[in-house]
Amino acid sequence: MASPVVSLKDITKTYHNGDIAVEVLHGISLDIEAGEFVAIIGQSGSGKSTLMNILGCLDQPTSGDYLLDGEHVSGFTADALAALRRRTFGFVFQNYNLIPTASAQENVEVPAVYAGLSLRDRQERAETLLTSLKLGDRLDHRPNQLSGGQQQRVSIARALMNGGRIILADEPTGALDSQSGEDVMALLRKMNEDGHTIIVITHSREIAEQADRLIELRDGRIISDRTKKGRSNPEAAGVLARQMGEGAAALADVSEAVKMAVRALRANLFRTILTLLGIVIGVGSVVAMLAIGTGAQNSVLDRISSMGSNLLIVRPNMANFRGGEGGSIVSLVPADADAILEVPNVAFAVPEMTSTVTVRYGNIDYQTTVNGTVPQFTEAKSWKVGAGEFINPRDMSTYAPVAVLGQTVAKKLFADGESPLGKYVLVSKIPFQIIGVMSEMGAGPGGNDQDDTVLIPLTTGSNRLFGQRNVRTITVQVEDGSAIDATQTAIQGLLDQRHKREDTQIVNMASIREAVTETSNTLKLFLAAVAAISLLVGGIGVMNIMLVSVSERTREIGVRMATGARQRDILLQFLIEALVVSAVGGAIGVVAGLGTGVLAKALGAPISFTLGPVVLAFACSFLTGLVFGYLPARNASRLQPAVALSSE
Ligand code: ADP
Ligand code: MG
Repeated sequence: MASPVVSLKDITKTYHNGDIAVEVLHGISLDIEAGEFVAIIGQSGSGKSTLMNILGCLDQPTSGDYLLDGEHVSGFTADALAALRRRTFGFVFQNYNLIPTASAQENVEVPAVYAGLSLRDRQERAETLLTSLKLGDRLDHRPNQLSGGQQQRVSIARALMNGGRIILADEPTGALDSQSGEDVMALLRKMNEDGHTIIVITHSREIAEQADRLIELRDGRIISDRTKKGRSNPEAAGVLARQMGEGAAALADVSEAVKMAVRALRANLFRTILTLLGIVIGVGSVVAMLAIGTGAQNSVLDRISSMGSNLLIVRPNMANFRGGEGGSIVSLVPADADAILEVPNVAFAVPEMTSTVTVRYGNIDYQTTVNGTVPQFTEAKSWKVGAGEFINPRDMSTYAPVAVLGQTVAKKLFADGESPLGKYVLVSKIPFQIIGVMSEMGAGPGGNDQDDTVLIPLTTGSNRLFGQRNVRTITVQVEDGSAIDATQTAIQGLLDQRHKREDTQIVNMASIREAVTETSNTLKLFLAAVAAISLLVGGIGVMNIMLVSVSERTREIGVRMATGARQRDILLQFLIEALVVSAVGGAIGVVAGLGTGVLAKALGAPISFTLGPVVLAFACSFLTGLVFGYLPARNASRLQPAVALSSE
């Protein structure tokens, strides 16, 4: 008939243990036809398992030729070998090698996952197989909930899942009681009658005698090869060979990998939570810190904007001030404001004189800042009068002793419900009548309380309170904001000419805004760097747990490879596991970060949530998982199947 399905020519295998090389197989030559039922017998240590690993393409021979269906296997790539294991072989192991965290049905489905069978089809087929092996009522049991005989039947179902044209069974009855052992042998016999090629490895002559052909191995050599009986069903074997196979080898379901990852992570819940924590803290702090940083920046910028963008602030420049005649430090004077008003494009020029004073009402003393100014003050500063009225031009010309209180001062001096309007207060022992109360302004750009002030006419102030004629600031509002730079230059020129020296400086709101933005961006960058470091620490945690996970589950990796997983399937599985940890951690971290922000907001801090940091932090955590999960996943995928399977 046709050429043998398996043909070994002079196969040797040498194991290297450090410097010591041990040859375990010394030139094995062997042909096996499709549909044969072969037992390979030999004492423990004679090389049976080594031979089986080579037959099943779990390991490579050191020398010799292995032809499978007439093709040289030695030239196959890792993926091609995986495809062979997936399509051609079904393995049954002495210790069953089931995945402990998966149910019986899921264990049986594994080879079909790698063959790209749809979820529905593979569930159906697994159920059918298990039912035919009398395990229909054990589908959801985990391996540790099954007896040895039942576990071995699950592993037989798994071997048949993708067809199992050649079944390789290494001591399949070794761990079973005699009854279960007989059941397993009966199953193998039945499978052989259905057309499967069966190769059983055993040290028991009794088991071996049940096969049709007996090959005896001693110390890595075949010492006898005896055929007792022809093939049971050679025709069926031919049919089986044609039936099995698969379409394009699809990448195993990503959703399947996610499911497996979640299960593996749940199996070590506490460890997973600790790893998550690293990511949660990292992502949470990125989100919270940037929300707080952005919030602080926005609130400062808002206050600057509320003052209007067309403002110039003129101040004495102490740095350039070299002392005037008589040692007076007078530089800006009220007359400068009048002069500035003549400059084109200037709408207002509002001078302010300030002094720290004690204000008294009844028996309450309160120390505050008195601010001598002009009627245009409210308009120039976009500041509204809450009650009563503001200083008017007549107050200016008559040097009227009238005052307008800031909210803070009004609250300090007057009890709830008592209207300050019309009352008299002593400002530095001089009585002033209150004509108005300002509406609330809140904190200024520097964090100072802008409501902690008393406003009086500039004329009254300079005449009766300040005793000097220097002006602290002149606030200038321009008409056309686009020409603000030219106006600034014009005013500076005017002042330098009037003072005959450069003793004033002008700042515009745009430059203040810029400075604030710059400082707070630096701060945000610093916060983000701190957060990024904690994310890095979280990433190292992920890497650590993945390395542990891989070394703990080496045998599982071996089982998956034996059932046909490609290297990239294993890589993907562990990578997805790392990604699941960091994505879950990232999601919790985002929620925690936003929660912290909401809490801080409730406590009164200015908070600004933007999508950017949330997306950034989540993306970072995802990337962390990818980068730090890659190395362990790659290690796992490069394991030799036979080595992985023999790990403890
Ligand atoms: P059997 O399955 O017949 O009991 P094995 O094929 O497992 O025998 O082992 C044959 C010989 O090879 C034994 O002497 C064993 O110690 C040795 N051996 C098996 N696997 C390895 C390995 N990975 N490294 C080194 N020596 C090995
Ligand atoms: Mg063995």
